[in-house]
Amino acid sequence: MLKYVKPLDNYGINVILIEASTQGKKLNNFYWSDSRQNVKNFNKHAIIDLIRFTPNGISRIELARVLGLTRAAITATINDLQEADLVHEVKGKHPAGRKPIVLEINPKRGYVVGVDIGATHITALLADYSALVLDEIDASIDISEGPHKILDMVIEMTKEMTRRTGISESSIHAMGIGVPGPVVAGGGMVSGPPIMPGWDKFPIDTYLEKALGIPVTVSNDAELGAIGEWAYGAGRGERNLVYIKVGRGIGAGLLVEGQIYHGATGSAGEIGHITIDENGPLCSCGNRGCLEALAGGNAVAKSAIARIKRGDRTTLSAIAPISSIRSEDVIDEACRGDLVSQQILIDAGRHLGTAIAGLVNLFNPNIVIIGGNVSRIGDLLLEPIRKTVQDRSLKMASSNLRISTALLGKRSSGMGAIVQALNMVIHNFADISDERRLTKAE
Ligand SMILES: [Zn+2]
Repeated sequence: MLKYVKPLDNYGINVILIEASTQGKKLNNFYWSDSRQNVKNFNKHAIIDLIRFTPNGISRIELARVLGLTRAAITATINDLQEADLVHEVKGKHPAGRKPIVLEINPKRGYVVGVDIGATHITALLADYSALVLDEIDASIDISEGPHKILDMVIEMTKEMTRRTGISESSIHAMGIGVPGPVVAGGGMVSGPPIMPGWDKFPIDTYLEKALGIPVTVSNDAELGAIGEWAYGAGRGERNLVYIKVGRGIGAGLLVEGQIYHGATGSAGEIGHITIDENGPLCSCGNRGCLEALAGGNAVAKSAIARIKRGDRTTLSAIAPISSIRSEDVIDEACRGDLVSQQILIDAGRHLGTAIAGLVNLFNPNIVIIGGNVSRIGDLLLEPIRKTVQDRSLKMASSNLRISTALLGKRSSGMGAIVQALNMVIHNFADISDERRLTKAE
């Protein structure tokens, strides 16, 4: 088993975003906030993340310029990283014909697994060190079946992906996993999750670590969606981003000034339980009229059933028994042109817009990204959201706001899980190479 340090939750994400000063000198790029790190390490980790997250690669000259370091300092660090087989030099992919030498993470250095668990689905991804996805398995589940059954499926899916790709289990170095509930900060478990009965305080990380022999990091699924879309999707490089995962539950991942905002106990972003209608329907959390009870997957299915019982003409009535109608069916029929299905989703969009308007007034983000299964209906959902946000939020807050669907589609959270898994191992390898050099010098 690899020796590793637990990640500082979301390191990696701050590198091109945060300004800080160290030893009286202002740095443009800073992310590594662990006090055990010396300045050399700090530069090294910043260099690694710039290499990871700059689209089309970054050259030594650009690194020196961005970090305010000398060419010699960059060369020394890059030599270290090349010796650890972590970084390669390749021809750049600039379209203009000029092909400078750029640095990239050595994709074959190892592999990681990213898992997104929702209330009704699991998406498992296998990726190399450059975050390129090599295999994917999707499965339908019911999260209320509890942690043993669901996590055993995750273990089996991981093994199945190694068999299919021919990658040895020992080359899988870490796993990132997202769950649809409030994750105890750094605790590897959820606390009081409304839609995850049986999961309260279950040690998700140690259960998987024991079975797979690799480090596992656990995050909230919507937070991972924000990280995934920040790293590789619609929100690349944004400092203030909100990702909203709409499924049976509704959760938000908040990136505030370049940092994932967890809140005091890790439950920030539970937008699904914002009250929209004080006298509205009962919610899974015990309150009335929460966003989730009006626009979540169950709410959408319930309105469909009510409309059929009322005698409305809709292609949904072909589904029997009508009690088996799920929100996915409503989305499918909306895409096929069924007016009632479209009206139900437009209503859901309006409720989402009301909650998002509140969020926009509070956090003033640059971009709000709508993810989850419902995002595939695109403008049908985005239009009522945009209109409601415009009507209900302050002009100052919404004037430069973009509202978009997730670029990575259903993979947003899974890609965020891969970013987290890579955060653990890539930075860990960099530290090991430091230790090796120190041992040599003694
Ligand atoms: Zn609620």
